[in-house]
Amino acid sequence: MTTSTHKKLLNQLSNKPGKIEKYKKYNVPKKRKHGEKTHTCRRCGRTGAHISKYGLKLCRHCFRENAIVLGFKKYR
Ligand SMILES: [Zn+2]
Repeated sequence: MTTSTHKKLLNQLSNKPGKIEKYKKYNVPKKRKHGEKTHTCRRCGRTGAHISKYGLKLCRHCFRENAIVLGFKKYR
């Protein structure tokens, strides 16, 4: 797994506590210090299409939804 979060898989195994223990023992997410996957959107957690300019730290989807609230204008 690339995103270092196992939220989805742990949700799938929520009814099997023995399997969760075994999974956590052998598949602990790697702690990443640098690289593409360290840049996550602070609103939704997405790793792709990251905008860090002006300290936004948002993905393009969240930026598009909140651009007007943040004070950006759309020029034509
Ligand atoms: Zn986002």
